[in-house]
Amino acid sequence: MEAKLLIAVPRPLRTLLTYVHPTTNPIDLLGCRVSVPLGHGSSIGVVLGLADEQAINQYKLKAIKTLLDREPLLDAHLLELIQWATRYYQHTIGEVVFTALPNALRDGKPLPQTMTWQALHKSAASSQLKRAKRQADLYQWLIQQNVPCSASTIHTHVGDGWRQVLAALIDKGLVQEQLSLSQAGLPYLGTVTPKLELSQQQNTCLEQCRIWIKAPNPQPTLLHGVTGSGKTEIYLRLIEDALASHKQTLILVPEIGLTPQLVQRFTDHFPEQRISCLHSGLNDTERLQAWMEARSGQADIVIGTRSAVFTAFAHLGLIIIDEEHDTSLKQQEGFRYHGRDLAIKRAQMLNIPILMGTATPSLETLHNAEQGRYHYFRLEQRPGKARQPSLEVQDIRGQHLHSGLSKLTLQALERTLERNEQAMLFINRRGFAPMLLCPACGWLAHCPACSANMTYHARKSRVICHHCGTDEHAESHCPACNHPQLMTQGHGTERIELVLQQYFPETPIVRIDRDTTSRKGALERHLETVRTTDRLLLVGTQMLAKGHDFPNLTLVVILDVDAALLSSEYHALERFGQLLTQVAGRSGRSDKPGHVILQTTQPQHPMLLTLLQSGYLAFAQQLIEERKRWQFPPFSYQALIRAEAAEMEQALQHLEQLRAVIPSQTGVSIMGPVPAPLEKRAERYRAQLLVQAENRHLRHICLTYLTSQEKNSPNQKSIRWSIDIDPVELS
Ligand code: ADP
Ligand code: ZN
Ligand code: ZN
Repeated sequence: MEAKLLIAVPRPLRTLLTYVHPTTNPIDLLGCRVSVPLGHGSSIGVVLGLADEQAINQYKLKAIKTLLDREPLLDAHLLELIQWATRYYQHTIGEVVFTALPNALRDGKPLPQTMTWQALHKSAASSQLKRAKRQADLYQWLIQQNVPCSASTIHTHVGDGWRQVLAALIDKGLVQEQLSLSQAGLPYLGTVTPKLELSQQQNTCLEQCRIWIKAPNPQPTLLHGVTGSGKTEIYLRLIEDALASHKQTLILVPEIGLTPQLVQRFTDHFPEQRISCLHSGLNDTERLQAWMEARSGQADIVIGTRSAVFTAFAHLGLIIIDEEHDTSLKQQEGFRYHGRDLAIKRAQMLNIPILMGTATPSLETLHNAEQGRYHYFRLEQRPGKARQPSLEVQDIRGQHLHSGLSKLTLQALERTLERNEQAMLFINRRGFAPMLLCPACGWLAHCPACSANMTYHARKSRVICHHCGTDEHAESHCPACNHPQLMTQGHGTERIELVLQQYFPETPIVRIDRDTTSRKGALERHLETVRTTDRLLLVGTQMLAKGHDFPNLTLVVILDVDAALLSSEYHALERFGQLLTQVAGRSGRSDKPGHVILQTTQPQHPMLLTLLQSGYLAFAQQLIEERKRWQFPPFSYQALIRAEAAEMEQALQHLEQLRAVIPSQTGVSIMGPVPAPLEKRAERYRAQLLVQAENRHLRHICLTYLTSQEKNSPNQKSIRWSIDIDPVELS
């Protein structure tokens, strides 16, 4: 019998293509890859559905060339999630499907067979491994596992260089290599590491979560715990529960590379379970390995960044999202999905619990909790002796600053170092200074490709555009008037580091930003220095705001955040409150009290005062009120239509045409088109149009007008346009 199959191909098409294939069981083909004829060539595709028999009789349909998979790569739930995401984000189906597949499977290569390794009990082992600590560790671990282990779990356990360690054990006849068979999760026998005793608050929270999770249709749960309140401990206990009932857990985190400590805590707590990490540091093969382990049920716990939301699982039972508010959970190009929102959808489709933890919930999540759509639990205290840090606002108007630092700040740094403690200076800008200019004629180093200044990097003696990456030698003479000296304005991390070196020549200084951590292992080395040096100064960008635990850090100085307070972008204040709270939360995490200094020219800003005097929750509630007054999200639903072209006029005109396609409707307002805040990036002019609707349905209808018009205004090389649903920034 011949079946008509609906197939997604990796092209910018909004529809599925229909092909025929001889089979009696077409259902079994859903989620399999195929090779199909397309145009004059052929393409890979994924079977997504069965075609309606009547609807397509008028065409002579082509047949599938080859069926590439013997079993579906994507199960029915994932296919449903993919279809939902395609509709919700108004994106092309092919791109969504192929985003969900690991890179290594996108070109039609067969699903490889995975190898596993198992330790053999040998009495001679201890003498054979006497002088090889890493081999001995791995051997011991493999013995404990007592089942064949996969590459990625061994990688997670051993770290870099695992292949050599493993190869040595195989050579010595202590480990056996074999083809893997998919299997159910390991029986969970409890951990051997001593556990922390939970505080009373943590216990109450855990018990509450357990009750909620057992409900037949569990609602999402927001765990709003101040920084350092022990949210991770709650995650660990809930994962124990999932393991005990043979379920897998997916943990989504914003950026794994930035928080190696977090992964370590999971591996320490679950020494016998198999944990796979999916992060950007993996190559395609490693990523595929981790994906297949989740799919076969070999991995008990999967920790990954946003794209891990599409991981196939054999028996997923729990999803945890750490730092729910973090915008890096949202993809900012191409298929612009939000990892958190898709995870919530996935949990709902599977009817499994999802827990979101953060110290600074996003306004939309907090609003959902306040409306009763999510369960809500607060952890207001740090366990043990740790307390929330005290905050001090320093008015720097009219003050003489030493390369950005006030006299009071310098004194506070000195006192901290005298006590043999650590201080951290936060400034959200890398490089030496954001401006390099000529004092004689006013020339300014400007990016030739963007409407932005170049940032001066003193170490490398270069000017770099942080938007497009243009990187040029920094002139020593003014290119306009040949004046022999250029000057800088403003500060970045590099400059702060330099001034600290001058004031505290004896003190070790660690700078953490994208420039100092680009090499593999560099961040780990820096963090190790911070862990092992009592008396130290730490300088860095928002990379420092993320979940790090520095027990000896007692002073945090926050520089140059005034721009966020004064920004007209309505997301800016929310982000400011989150960043400030997260950065401040790095201090005073053990028994020593923490202190935070905020240098600002806006000490009377009402929202700043609310944040400092009443805390993040009151601040966020006030912002929610404001959003309500202005009918901004979460009280309305936005889509940002972006266009870019060689000329601003073209981009604007294109958006004008798109705008004209949407009939005016009550409940919908359309703003723009206007030039984007960064008007030009990498030689392209950028404009935007904001669609704001009373509800999601109306928004969807409006956008359908646009997408159905696409044939008349296709994405040409000269003009590109895209839809961003629930934008997290309007730039
Ligand atoms: P969060 O995830 O909320 O920022 P963590 O789970 O990282 O907090 O906990 C912060 C610190 O407090 C960690 O060093 C952790 O080991 C410690 N901690 C957490 N819970 C307890 C507890 N019940 N008793 C003692 N220390 C705890
Ligand atoms: Zn000049
Ligand atoms: Zn540029």
